[in-house]
Amino acid sequence: MTKSYVAITYDVCEHNDLCEDMNEYILDSSVDMDKQVKGFAEQDVAPLVKVYESATSDFGELTLYKEFKFKEYECDCEQ
Ligand SMILES: [Zn+2]
Repeated sequence: MTKSYVAITYDVCEHNDLCEDMNEYILDSSVDMDKQVKGFAEQDVAPLVKVYESATSDFGELTLYKEFKFKEYECDCEQ
């Protein structure tokens, strides 16, 4: 059985204690994960993308697989 991966983009503002999930993307296993995640972050301007692994194809049970942080998309609001 092949594992499935889903990436969720997050909008994060540490100043306002905000961490909100934005969009969910099913990863294409034939494409490099880092590349896909980078694309999602760019599209959503997301400083944080979490990739979850699912043992089942219906994404019933998700476990955190990897976290990607993108400094260039962090909020620039004042403290
Ligand atoms: Zn902020």
